[in-house]
Amino acid sequence: MKGITHLLIGAGTGFASATALNAEGAVTVTMTCTAAVAALVPDLDTGGILSNRITFSHKAIRNITIFIGLLLILYSMWNLFGQDRYIGLAIGAGIMVLSRVINKKFMLLITGIAVLLTGLYTGHTWVVMSGCYIGIASFLAHRSYTHSLIGLIYFYILMTFFEQETALFGTQLAGTAGYASHLLADSRIFPVNKKGVKLLLPIIKKDF
Ligand SMILES: [Zn+2]
Repeated sequence: MKGITHLLIGAGTGFASATALNAEGAVTVTMTCTAAVAALVPDLDTGGILSNRITFSHKAIRNITIFIGLLLILYSMWNLFGQDRYIGLAIGAGIMVLSRVINKKFMLLITGIAVLLTGLYTGHTWVVMSGCYIGIASFLAHRSYTHSLIGLIYFYILMTFFEQETALFGTQLAGTAGYASHLLADSRIFPVNKKGVKLLLPIIKKDF
């Protein structure tokens, strides 16, 4: 299913959760937005619309990397001598080679590490857990663990910390419901989904 479909279903789920809680206006808006974003999270394993937004621009990174590599090579040639010069040249060349092999998955991993470090620095558990999720998702096959009950439980714990640490009431329920709506929308309950989701990984590999 497309990202925009998941976004809309997630928003509807968030709105329904808010209605169920008899939430007031501001809380309803927060819950609707939280669920809409949460409904995009499982597709971080594919390079879907959320991962495009979350990873830095591919071209920009590549150009910056090439530029840094070049600067280091020039610096080494002019300012370094002896062994240091060769080390500088090697690192500069290495950085330029790295810029060629950089791809979407690799950038997702770098983004995950950056988010993880930010979380450790600011002391927010939900940010640390988000970084781990993004980093791990970069290694996973599409529609595997992010689309399973394990993924849902992980996200539920993440949202529990999120609600505690941001004091945004209702976001734990809305986020979890939004995530669950994605798994449901990708499942074989709907005949358009021929592939389904491996809900019970790693125990049962059947598509649901
Ligand atoms: Zn999906």
